Amino acid sequence: QAKASGRNGMRFFDPKMQARLNERAELESELRSALEAGQLALHYQPQVNVDGTTIGVEALLRWTHPVRGAIAPDAFIPLAEETGLILPIGNWVLECACDQLRRWSASPDTAGWTVSVNVSALQFRQSDFVELVVDTLARHGANPHRLTLELTESLIYDIDDTLPRMHALKAHGIRFSLDDFGTGYSSLAYLKRLPLDELKIDRSFVRDLLTDPNDATIARTIVSLTRALGLQVIAEGVETAEQRDELIVQGCLHFQGYLFSPPVPAEGLEASLKR
Ligand code: C2E
Ligand code: MG
Ligand code: MG
Ligand code: MG
Repeated sequence: QAKASGRNGMRFFDPKMQARLNERAELESELRSALEAGQLALHYQPQVNVDGTTIGVEALLRWTHPVRGAIAPDAFIPLAEETGLILPIGNWVLECACDQLRRWSASPDTAGWTVSVNVSALQFRQSDFVELVVDTLARHGANPHRLTLELTESLIYDIDDTLPRMHALKAHGIRFSLDDFGTGYSSLAYLKRLPLDELKIDRSFVRDLLTDPNDATIARTIVSLTRALGLQVIAEGVETAEQRDELIVQGCLHFQGYLFSPPVPAEGLEASLKR
C-alpha cells in the first residue's frame, strides 16, 4: 500500500479501480463464450403506425447469463465494441434477423414487415460489410427491401468511407435509418448526402415531450426536417398515449415504445397477432 500514492498524492493503484478492471475482464471472457453457449437471443419490438398496425420490428439483442441473469445491451454492447467482439456477435444478429425476415415474409399477416437491425460503426467499417449483408440476405432468401440497417450519427464523421458503402447497400434495396437522432452532431449538409430512408427521434426527446418545451421543439424540428429531406420519421420510447397524440399533432406517424409493446421473442409477437 506504500507505493499506492505517488509524490503528488496521485494514486497509482486503486483497489476499486482494480476490482472494476477484473470485473470487466471477466465479463469480456464470458461474452466471448456467450455466443457459442447459446446465451444470446434476439427480441423484436413492434414499430406501429397511427392505427396501431405493426409495420415492422426492431431486433434487439438479449444476453441471458447463467448466473447473473439478464444483462442489458447498454452493459455489454460498449464492451463488445471495444474488444471487437461486436463483429462475430453482429454477424450472428444479422443471420438471425434475416432468418426471421424470411419466416415472416411467408405469412400474410407479417409479410409486409420490415426488420431493423442495429449496426455498430466498427461493423459497418469492415471492408467486406456490403458483401456480408448481401450474402446473408441471399443465403436466407430474405428480401433486401425489408431489411433496415440502423446506423448512428458517429458514422458521419467518416463520410468518405461511409457514403460509398451506403450507396452499394442501397443499390441492393437495403433501407437505412439514423438511430438516436438528435443526440449526435449531424451536420445538416451531410444528412442531405446520405441515402437515408428514416430518422428515429431519440427517446430522450420523447420522454419529456409534454413537459419540456425545448424537447417538444426539437421533436417538431426533426419532423419538419424529415419532411424537407423526403424521409420517414419514427419516434422511439413512446410510453404513453399522450406522447403518441402529441407526436401525431407534430406530424410523426410512426412509433415504437412500451405503449405498444416491449421487445419480445418472435413467438411472442406471433402469438399477439393471433389474439
Ligand atoms: P436503440 O437501438 O436506440 O434501441 C432502443 C432501446 O430503447 C432498446 O433498449 C429498447 O428496449 C428501448 N425501449 C424501447 N421502447 C422503450 C420505451 O418505451 N421506454 C424506454 N425507456 N425504453 C424503450 P435496449 O434493448 O436495452 O438496447 C439498448 C441499445 O443497445 C440499443 O439502443 C442499441 O444501441 C444497442 N443494441 C441493442 N441490440 C443491438 C444489436 O444487435 N447490435 C448493436 N450493434 N447494438 C444493439
Ligand atoms: Mg436502434
Ligand atoms: Mg435508438
Ligand atoms: Mg440508443
